[in-house]
Amino acid sequence: MNENELTDKYLRHLNYLRLSITDRCNLRCIYCTPRELIPKLRHKAILRYEELLRIVRIGASLGITKVRVTGGEPLVRKGVCGFLAELSSIDQIADISLTTNGVLLEPHLEELWAAGIRRMNISLDTLDRKKFEKITGVDAFDAVWNGIQGALEAGFSPVKINTVALRGINDDELAALAKLSLDYPLHVRFIEHMPIGRAVMEDSHPLLAPEIRERIRALGELVPVQNGTSDGPAERYRLEGAPGEIGLIRPLSHHFCSRCNRLRLTASGMLRPCLLSDREEDLRTPLRKGLLDDDLKAVFLRAVRDKPRCHTLAEKDPVDVCAQMCAIGG
Ligand code: SAM
Repeated sequence: MNENELTDKYLRHLNYLRLSITDRCNLRCIYCTPRELIPKLRHKAILRYEELLRIVRIGASLGITKVRVTGGEPLVRKGVCGFLAELSSIDQIADISLTTNGVLLEPHLEELWAAGIRRMNISLDTLDRKKFEKITGVDAFDAVWNGIQGALEAGFSPVKINTVALRGINDDELAALAKLSLDYPLHVRFIEHMPIGRAVMEDSHPLLAPEIRERIRALGELVPVQNGTSDGPAERYRLEGAPGEIGLIRPLSHHFCSRCNRLRLTASGMLRPCLLSDREEDLRTPLRKGLLDDDLKAVFLRAVRDKPRCHTLAEKDPVDVCAQMCAIGG
């Protein structure tokens, strides 16, 4: 393996591939999925598991060592645990994780563990059952909460909670959500809301990290936790005596593009070098035309070459991102 093969022109080493394995989701979060019905990918447009595995193996031969499986909602796709087990058996992939909304988590926990998954991110924006339904369109708070508790009991670690900070929706609950890190070994991460796709909520005054910190201050001092070299973009903190952590993910107020090590693959097989740019490279067509591994490697290298230096979301005239978050996987 040549470690430098996935190094872009800004000298970022891209070793992290996020795989969206389906565009289907069992929730319809107001900030993620458009309210109107959007056409779903046809079955045959979605990459089959063996196609996904081939792409990961090719990525691994170029330097990918870390994979996150996401969606849509990954746990709605049939056979996902078998796929994860296959993924775990790829030697070069040292780190596999899952992002889920948690609705179907509890019944999958045993199988996920058997498939080699040890850590996961679970999305949760509120602790209020009624509000959960308002945000997601589904009355499933209890299922998610049971999934979180079940994951902790089963020994998954870390279990991270992804909370999108939404002004006027969950801003009154940020301290209560942060307090989960005092009560449980949970890593609660507040994500600034990114206005992309057609799910754009009315959000002319987004809730940014300084204000999020202000709102959770009542719980005590946030002591910085040193980031490891393979850590993601979250700024990490701990409340005194807490078994868990608090993280701030700041795509708007302090973007982390210069450290970005990610490539994304959409469920339809488009390789996306930047979450917040619609530039994509088609891997599915050459894959299905029967092209050789070297030709598919060339697609990876093109995507890396074209990775934008930086997104424009926080600028005065940001470039619109048309793709839906639910199709890219976050
Ligand atoms: N269904 C899974 C879930 O809910 O975790 C995986 C897909 S979801 C697109 C991945 C992550 O993206 C979730 O944590 C979600 O909260 C986050 N997300 C979606 N839309 C977002 C937005 N507009 N701004 C910030 N985060 C967003």
